[in-house]
Amino acid sequence: MSSTTMRPGVATGERYRDLVAAAKEGGYALPAVNVTSSSTLNAVLEAASKTRSDIIVQLSNGGAQFYAGKGIEDDFQAKVIGAVSAARHIHLLAEHYGVCVVIHTDHANRPLIPWVEALIEHGEQFHRETGGPLYSSHMLDLSADDIDFNLGECARLLERMAKIDMSIEIELGVTGGEEDGVGADIDESADNSKLYTQPEDVLQAYELLAPIGHFSVAASFGNVHGVYKPGNVKLRPEILKNSQALIEKKMGTAHNPLHLVFHGGSGSEKAKIHEAVSYGVFKMNIDTDTQFAYSKPLKNYVDQNTRAFLHQIDPDDGTPYKKFYDPRKWTRECEQSMVARLEEAFEDLGSLGRSVARA
Ligand SMILES: [Zn+2]
Repeated sequence: MSSTTMRPGVATGERYRDLVAAAKEGGYALPAVNVTSSSTLNAVLEAASKTRSDIIVQLSNGGAQFYAGKGIEDDFQAKVIGAVSAARHIHLLAEHYGVCVVIHTDHANRPLIPWVEALIEHGEQFHRETGGPLYSSHMLDLSADDIDFNLGECARLLERMAKIDMSIEIELGVTGGEEDGVGADIDESADNSKLYTQPEDVLQAYELLAPIGHFSVAASFGNVHGVYKPGNVKLRPEILKNSQALIEKKMGTAHNPLHLVFHGGSGSEKAKIHEAVSYGVFKMNIDTDTQFAYSKPLKNYVDQNTRAFLHQIDPDDGTPYKKFYDPRKWTRECEQSMVARLEEAFEDLGSLGRSVARA
């Protein structure tokens, strides 16, 4: 059992690094859940609070844009200020939920490098105001580019982020599927070695980035973004073990030196999840399953209250329907369903009830 304790609230810098270490030491991982609104965000915080579990909240570029509002015409501006708005909102709320909350951005490919750079600039501003960064970590996914470009850009941004006590998440190898427009379809004829991250690539990343700052690695071991028909690619968590072993040997580090991230966790077999966590996975991204959980209750609700969605007051008997169509009624059903799905995620990852936060 880890002896780490910290006050509740957003975990950045040393607090984030301690949280990652506590998870790896304790043999569990934290769900990283994509949010797109205050409703989905509150559901995530509620699930963490209710189960006394620490949590990672994540925004994709599209999620950030939606957070700012689709009415803003300048897409790029909306993606930046939406991400800033969500993070500031989390900084205000987190401690009131009594657990530790990590704030992350999700996949940013080459065209989205300026988005990450704009957010770093806001992070530098926030650091001047408060002494800490706005985000705990940003993710850069240049896995579609060649490895020298990928790692070179990661190093360049990490140099800047380390100065404000931020971490970076990088991606090596090709994870199939699509994440908010970033990613590629599974090409079954693809060279198999490309579907699985090569330990030599991970070693190259470690040698370059470890002297600069804190980083985590999303590696491909047959995982796919989104939920697809099973059988296309086989999950092989031993790929992660081989990368850890190579770095341990070549660099003379302690056991499981890499902080690993599991992308495309939705729909994965539980046994493979446990195996991956034992090889140093501390973060598992979850989006597709929680999206479905959030949307699912709507059908029943509308079916059961059809007339409330047709009339404000029933034309036949005068029944007022306000308390049925009030958006708080049906979004609350969605939130509760998302909370229930997240309880399952904490359970799968071994992090249920294991918050390190102490008031
Ligand atoms: Zn990915």
